[in-house]
Amino acid sequence: MLIVQKFGGTSVGTLERIEAVAERVIETKKTGADVVVVVSAMSGVTNQLVEYGEHFSKQPDGIAMDMLLSSGEQVTTAILTIALNAKGYECVGLTGAMAGIKTDSVHTKARIEKIDTARIKDELRAGKIVVVAGFQGIDESGDITTLGRGGSDLSAVALAGALNADLCEIFTDVDGVYTTDPRIEKKAKKLEKISYEEMLELASAGAKVLQNRSVEMAKKLNVKLVTRSSFNHNEGTLITQEDNMEAVLVSGIALDKNQARVTLRGVVDKPGIAAEIFTALAKKNINVDMIIQNVGQDGTTNLGFTVPQNELELAKKTMQELAVAKNVEYDDAIVKVSVVGVGMKSHSGVACLAFETLAREGINIQMISTSEIKISMIVDQKYGELAVRVLHDAYELDK
Ligand code: ASP
Ligand code: MG
Repeated sequence: MLIVQKFGGTSVGTLERIEAVAERVIETKKTGADVVVVVSAMSGVTNQLVEYGEHFSKQPDGIAMDMLLSSGEQVTTAILTIALNAKGYECVGLTGAMAGIKTDSVHTKARIEKIDTARIKDELRAGKIVVVAGFQGIDESGDITTLGRGGSDLSAVALAGALNADLCEIFTDVDGVYTTDPRIEKKAKKLEKISYEEMLELASAGAKVLQNRSVEMAKKLNVKLVTRSSFNHNEGTLITQEDNMEAVLVSGIALDKNQARVTLRGVVDKPGIAAEIFTALAKKNINVDMIIQNVGQDGTTNLGFTVPQNELELAKKTMQELAVAKNVEYDDAIVKVSVVGVGMKSHSGVACLAFETLAREGINIQMISTSEIKISMIVDQKYGELAVRVLHDAYELDK
């Protein structure tokens, strides 16, 4: 039995919390399982490091930035290792590089390319608990890389996959995945199980429990994933294949506040124009989410898309350089509200209820996009939380 346990920032936020984590790891080790622990930086540390890095420059050098950002996880790794040793458990702490986590060279947003597990396996064979610094790896040139904010989840899942672990537990400060954010809707309920697909849609729609790339990877590598709290022993939420679940219509409502809208007016309506725009954005690693293109008129058309708020400046610059539109508007006072459920695959009319519900509240829908199991709507930021609550009610998620 091999278990990967990942502890997020609040779970390792103080020395007392790190001690509690050590106890939890020991509990697992005592069951006879091999344990690989992945840790985040202590809460707040990465934000602080980002501030340091951006103090002298808005566009700091990538290699230097990753050296800086990765230090937070190394601190936690070392402290937890020392704590476990002090409690009489043999333990080794590894940086991403020492753990064999190889990435591409896109600094601050690197992708894991492969994991050379030899070192970890040796240490496990020697009976040790292995602690690995999350959020980081090493590229071909030997430079430290980081995996994007929230990337320790990805480290944990990738390690669980590469080591063929029986279970990957992601410990955080909430009990699991809820039907919606309990801070917005008090009637929100914890889900016992959710499919990878739904979790992916919830994550990309703004539900912060797990980083979305980590869920994608869990699905691809078929990693058995549980998210639960490190502050109690409550059962968490199991994230699994859809066919392990009874059919539910809608699992949850998510709110993504990190969206900004770009509207291009008077774009020449000719083949290749969309390719030109979205290739330019892709080249800068800007994550375009929703796209709307209207039917053209008089040889021009309007085109709208959304990007994460922190990529809006870069998107602006890109649009200015490209100069394909008569005028471009930007709006970051918007949010994305999403209704997610595998039941949408087989039931029609699920989306209509969402539209009717928002209409009844007088909330205007600015953009819509759908997938097999999700309907997302862009609305004015000031109606975001209200939209979540009325949709939660409409789909009876408190029942
Ligand atoms: N410490 C990093 C962050 O805050 C990685 C993580 O916590 O997952 O983004
Ligand atoms: Mg985190």
